[in-house]
Amino acid sequence: MVDYAVTPSPVVGLPIMDSQQLFPVRRVYCVGRNYAEHAKEMGFTGREDPFFFCKPADALVPVPVGQVGKMPYPSKTDNLHFEMELVVALGSGGRDIAVDRANDCIFGYALGLDMTRRDLQGECKKQGRPWEIGKGFDQSGPIGPIWSRAVTGTLSQGSISLDVNGTQRQSSDLSQMIWNIPETISYLSGLFELKAGDLIFTGTPEGVGAVVRGDKMVGRVAGLGEFEVEVV
Ligand code: MN
Repeated sequence: MVDYAVTPSPVVGLPIMDSQQLFPVRRVYCVGRNYAEHAKEMGFTGREDPFFFCKPADALVPVPVGQVGKMPYPSKTDNLHFEMELVVALGSGGRDIAVDRANDCIFGYALGLDMTRRDLQGECKKQGRPWEIGKGFDQSGPIGPIWSRAVTGTLSQGSISLDVNGTQRQSSDLSQMIWNIPETISYLSGLFELKAGDLIFTGTPEGVGAVVRGDKMVGRVAGLGEFEVEVV
């Protein structure tokens, strides 16, 4: 038995639909600007190479089935933005995974929010600094339960949307990703060795905007139901 000097943090486990098992999270990768219309609203155009940032696994806020997730309004921001995303959960990994083998690595999918301190992220961009304080803060990643790919089939198209207080704010289709899911997995696996337990937030469509305390967000992806998160 290992004698740790301080108590180690627990593994973050996400519920799996129709299962008693949990999905153990290793790393959380996020793709930047992966829908053309969102790239444009952020001041960019065209198909640049995919780029990535990470959130800490313990920044996730698991939202159990049928419950409303609670995300505390973070410190040091006046501009907390929602980014509704499809999350891919890997059941296996590797290095330099070929595009035509990449879907085989997918254990399942989840609904996720890449919550962003947009004001701090903007400062980081301006000063050429890393994005962690804008993207990787505590409780910045509300996420629904994992849906097994064995149940959903392989997702490559279907609607993705987000309502805030009953008004639709984001609406697009998974087919609008600049880099589709297998291309993203393949590219990422050239940069990092991917492993079972890794999550990939696959980017957000256009329509991102700010929320304040008391706002209720409902995210949906076709085939994955919906999840609700309240900013508290
Ligand atoms: Mn994002």
